[in-house]
Amino acid sequence: MSGPRHECAIMGALGTPDAAELTYLGLYALQHRGQESSGIVSFAGGRPYVHKAMGLVADIFTEDVLSSLPGACAIGHNRYSTTGSSNLVNAQPILANLKGGSLAISHNGNLVNARELRDELEQSGAIFQSTVDSEVVVHLIARSREPTLDGRVLASLQRLQGAFSLLILAEDALYAARDPNGFRPLCLGTRPDGKGAFVASETCALDIVGAELVREIHPGELLKVTREGFTSLRIAEPHPEHACIFELIYFARPDSRLFGISTDQARRGFGRELAREHPVEADCVFSVPDSSNAAALGYAEESGLPFELALIRNHYVGRTFIQPTQAIRDFGVKVKYNPVRSVIRDRRVVVVDDSIVRGTTSKALVRLIREAGAREVHLRVSSPPLRHPCYYGVDIPVREDLIAANMDTDELRTYLDLDSLGYLSREGMYRAVGGEPRFCDACFTGDYPVRVEGNMDDKLVFERTAGELGAVE
Ligand code: SF4
Repeated sequence: MSGPRHECAIMGALGTPDAAELTYLGLYALQHRGQESSGIVSFAGGRPYVHKAMGLVADIFTEDVLSSLPGACAIGHNRYSTTGSSNLVNAQPILANLKGGSLAISHNGNLVNARELRDELEQSGAIFQSTVDSEVVVHLIARSREPTLDGRVLASLQRLQGAFSLLILAEDALYAARDPNGFRPLCLGTRPDGKGAFVASETCALDIVGAELVREIHPGELLKVTREGFTSLRIAEPHPEHACIFELIYFARPDSRLFGISTDQARRGFGRELAREHPVEADCVFSVPDSSNAAALGYAEESGLPFELALIRNHYVGRTFIQPTQAIRDFGVKVKYNPVRSVIRDRRVVVVDDSIVRGTTSKALVRLIREAGAREVHLRVSSPPLRHPCYYGVDIPVREDLIAANMDTDELRTYLDLDSLGYLSREGMYRAVGGEPRFCDACFTGDYPVRVEGNMDDKLVFERTAGELGAVE
């Protein structure tokens, strides 16, 4: 794994007495999508209960904390900051006391018009508590003149542009929404005994609470979940879908199903296509664990080369790993990966990775593999070259820092000290997921499905003129 950082996870439960506990379990299963902070809001007896803290889910939600979150409905959030700085005031869910009752919001994605909306709201007197784009949703709902909460939520979501998978919890209703492009995943599940409805970023969170997938929230849909059942409202007219292909390449857990596809099957397909496009005479295939495991298996299946476990990842290295001195920082990739020398020594190896971002991890890994005695090192990347930043909620750096935006494949092969380097083509990527592109692939192509105004943070200064844009809304 040398890919970009994850974004956020959301999870909600309604109609079950242990809603906060089940939300906690869901957040635990979704920890890979955000490790900076976590929070849960529940409702009981007409009032909200909230707990948010910096850190990992298992550390934050002790038994005592969970027992302080009563009620039959709850939503939660794991955060990795893509907008706003990393501190507790930016942790979600956002809880607000509005006329007519309290409301909590959990958001995954980036709103590309957040700055404009925030300026407009501040000019009309709104006071923001945080720097996260998601807070504009609260203010829009608070200021809406629609007579019902359904109408206020719907009218507010219609003002948003960009990527949002959202949960909104009121005392007796859970709203789940996906933006019209459907950038981020969001799925609905129920338990076979009918006790409880659940909405989560990925199906692995439904599995852990014993719920079965009913369906995904449709792009442009606002689904209202109450004890009486489900009501589907439309935020926008049907629209071409642009689901984030990077979710299938790298972010989502391989045991999750999203956008109608098994992540594991998608990744094996990427690996098989990669083997067809870039075959090589070699002795074995292995992955950069863990996100590239399934793609490496696909490569091995298609090429007929044996699959090996040759790089071992320390699973306990994360954001909590302290690097107190430069000397320790210099250990770099060795802290996270260690080669199995007996597998690698004197062999021609194919290494499968899901992406190359800055190239620093790849360079260090190749050195590690060569030091372990590999005779030849062939790197195969199970996605096209990453050349553009993401404006829809994924932390991909600016073009200057993306190595594939600054070197062609041959230059990169030399820089990384490889015997050969092969990227999966865009066509191969789509063959693996059913052919028909219904995905966003802007970080590979620069073809952004939703135009970004010049209103993002410094890192998000738009690099292309409007005339160069492909499909612009
Ligand atoms: Fe996903 Fe890339 Fe599109 Fe961002 S630009 S939503 S990472 S496919």
